[in-house]
Amino acid sequence: MTDHKLQVIPLGGLGEFGMNMTAIRYGDDIVIVDCGMMFPDAELLGVDLVMPDLTYLKEHQQHIRAVVLTHGHEDHIGAVPYFLTEIDVPVYGTAFTLALVDRRLEEYDLEQEPRFIKVKPKQIVDIGPFKIEFIHVTHSIVSAVALAITTPVGVIIHTGDFKVDPTPTDNELFDLHTLADYGKRGVLLLLSDSTNADRPGYTESERAVRPRMEEIFNRAEKRVVVSCFSSSIHRIQLVLDLAQEYNRRVAVIGRSMVSVTEIAHSLGLLQIPDNILLRPQDAMALSPEKVAILISGTQGEPMSALSRVAVDNHKHISVDAGDTVVLSSRIIPGNEKAIYRVIDHMSKRGADVMYGSMNPPLHVSGHGSIEEMKLVLNLVRPRYFMPIHGEFRQLSKHARLADHLRFAGLEETFVMETGEVLEIDHHGARKAGKVTVGRVCIDSGSIDDVVQEMVIRDRRHLSEDGIVLPIIAINRHTGRMENPPEIVSRGFNVAEDGKFVENARLVVARTLEGSNQEEKTDWGVMKEKVRADLKRYIVKETQRRPLIMPVIMEV
Ligand SMILES: [Zn+2]
Ligand SMILES: [Zn+2]
Repeated sequence: MTDHKLQVIPLGGLGEFGMNMTAIRYGDDIVIVDCGMMFPDAELLGVDLVMPDLTYLKEHQQHIRAVVLTHGHEDHIGAVPYFLTEIDVPVYGTAFTLALVDRRLEEYDLEQEPRFIKVKPKQIVDIGPFKIEFIHVTHSIVSAVALAITTPVGVIIHTGDFKVDPTPTDNELFDLHTLADYGKRGVLLLLSDSTNADRPGYTESERAVRPRMEEIFNRAEKRVVVSCFSSSIHRIQLVLDLAQEYNRRVAVIGRSMVSVTEIAHSLGLLQIPDNILLRPQDAMALSPEKVAILISGTQGEPMSALSRVAVDNHKHISVDAGDTVVLSSRIIPGNEKAIYRVIDHMSKRGADVMYGSMNPPLHVSGHGSIEEMKLVLNLVRPRYFMPIHGEFRQLSKHARLADHLRFAGLEETFVMETGEVLEIDHHGARKAGKVTVGRVCIDSGSIDDVVQEMVIRDRRHLSEDGIVLPIIAINRHTGRMENPPEIVSRGFNVAEDGKFVENARLVVARTLEGSNQEEKTDWGVMKEKVRADLKRYIVKETQRRPLIMPVIMEV
């Protein structure tokens, strides 16, 4: 054994939800496992995406050998495009994961072609001093893997996200054997997913969703509109299968839903029955009981296809009395208001909206519960354990689950926070200082459906470009705009002639006029529309990107 130390440095995802990223360093070689982003909470108004601060990695740029991805969820791959604009290294992942990264890269202008290296489960690659084996795991997304990273100091197992689904819908079983083999030979450190550490028992199999969905398809007399995450290929397959059984054709709506189903289909991961797909523009012409719609926007994102259908402002699709709308996803904390707004609008149109927890379920978690976490701990039997992916309370619960392993070789569990360094050498393991971590905010037109160039900005950039507040006064009785909108700006200098402000007011006024009555009564929708339109105008006129925060006042 050499004198080098092994360092494991969580750069995101510990003590916070999302933005998963871990650096593993031995001597002068670093590999990065996952490179995710986070969706901002309400406190970060006007900011669309949050990325991990790359300061530490930029400082050690010459040592970084690769980024290795476990699966294609945004909290694991969302920051890869941003990362690659700063640091050019090869990216390893399964074909589906890399295809999802590639889709995101279209919104960026990379100087060089990305170097993607496709891998399959059971494959082993050498990266510097590391030997990495990819191990198939079950999760809510297809083609997810755990990693066994053999280093000169010992083996690290990184689970990625997982559940232990004994009956996965694609029949691709969790490769528990390989995990157990490593456990038998001795594992130095286990990094394991803690997302559901406060949920007792087992997470239900993805198959558990079928009975409820089947009942809905069986009972629905008019259109069935299903919204799920566009990456939930298992769920999309289920809707396609049921549509075929119940003699409905399917329209796929929303940019992300369309592109991800195309990717999955082209890779053979999604079976689309012949002649089942319907062009969006033809969906309303067919009689309602012959139509199912797959649509993106489960989290009530204001510009998503589902939100637009909810306020009856979608180009092709509308929802009428008697239609069934299904939200087959969980409500991510922080999105409640937006989601319930969509449900309210749908209900006003007379649709029967199915959402939330039910038995049998409309949605099951992609993450293992306590018994599954224990199973993985028992199979791997590590010498050291670091819970990852979770708020502090989940990490510490997960740590407690490992207590019984003290009689099976576990020496110490490290509950760490993002930025803390775990150092391991032949003397043992210890926390060893901290590196720079943090968050970088990104402002784009919209996450999902609106075609907008994605712009990265850190806080310094934001303060340089200033802030613009369009202020709209609405009469509380008539619902009409009282005066022309005001434009207030700070730190954003515009030409002296006043034309800019005048035109910006016109842009806002035009957005208001172009909206239908239902949208006008929904301030969340109006703010997002004003922001998107005004942003387009300001970028075109000034090439600058101030933070735009519409304010609507009742007078
Ligand atoms: Zn995931
Ligand atoms: Zn995750």
